[in-house]
Amino acid sequence: MLIYVEKKAENYETTKRILSKFSDTQILEIDHYKNIFDKKIGNQKLTPAIIIAKDEHPNLLSVPNNYWYPGKSFFFRTSLNCVFDCEYCYLKGNFKTQYPVVFVNYEDIRNEITKKITEIRNDGYQWQITLYASNYSDIQWLDFYSWFNENFIPFIEKFDNVLMETRTKSANIDSIISINNWKPFKNTEISFSLNPEVIISTFEKWTAPLQARIKAINTLANKWYKVGLRFLPLLPINNYEKIYKEFLNNLKSEIDLEKIHSIFIASLIYNQWDFKTMQKKNPNSQLWNYVKLNENWLIKLPDEIFQKFSNLFKKELSEKKIYYDFI
Ligand code: SF4
Repeated sequence: MLIYVEKKAENYETTKRILSKFSDTQILEIDHYKNIFDKKIGNQKLTPAIIIAKDEHPNLLSVPNNYWYPGKSFFFRTSLNCVFDCEYCYLKGNFKTQYPVVFVNYEDIRNEITKKITEIRNDGYQWQITLYASNYSDIQWLDFYSWFNENFIPFIEKFDNVLMETRTKSANIDSIISINNWKPFKNTEISFSLNPEVIISTFEKWTAPLQARIKAINTLANKWYKVGLRFLPLLPINNYEKIYKEFLNNLKSEIDLEKIHSIFIASLIYNQWDFKTMQKKNPNSQLWNYVKLNENWLIKLPDEIFQKFSNLFKKELSEKKIYYDFI
């Protein structure tokens, strides 16, 4: 294992914790994480590495219009990249390396969140503010050496009408439970991305098997944690209507939907720049047959296919509201 440490990140508590966790490691001091992260270096398959850095501009980004929960919503990041290898993942289009980056200046990031929420409340906005924490990495998988949960979940609890969503394809929930000794949080929704097992095994390499995710969902939901189900990206593989129908029926028999906080569905979707990069990296992927350019210059499932998915989910999960983005 190789650990790159930015000089300005050396003295943070989380840096020390990470370094003490990995004993047999080579540590390399660097000036800026982008010197590694933005370059194609070494054989990443053979040289596992982590980059520890300070995020000097920990801004919150507004989400696109009509993105999931209504109201004011923002992305924020505490890490980049993911150890999983989903064939459709747009991070592969955006990032040049597969090395995870952990931004350890959590206090700065928490201050930005407080600042943003205060500004919005001072402007008179009283409805839900949503913070999406997992659009740049699978932070639940990473938690065993980033300690995101203990650093952010209790912090978010102090706000009123704020919801933080974390999303994962792992089944790691120990650190969630241990924060508060099985006492659920009001302001954090732990969401799990789900797809039929045939899609997981074909397109979502190294992610947790479906059954492991269902077990984690039930463990949390049975204790009334806020648990979300995310069906994304929906993929119209051969025979998809039958496969998804069976999949949803199996889920209903295994998960008590009454205990599920929210359900979202979403298309496979790219902007043109990401799509070109993805195609170049994997020209023969069958995924590219599923999408086409729409009138908003986005590459996504054709409307009629998405409509079929939408109808199927509304019918099979009729007891729940189904959220979807209509970008
Ligand atoms: S789990 Fe999410 S972030 Fe990780 S590779 Fe898959 S799609 Fe990308």
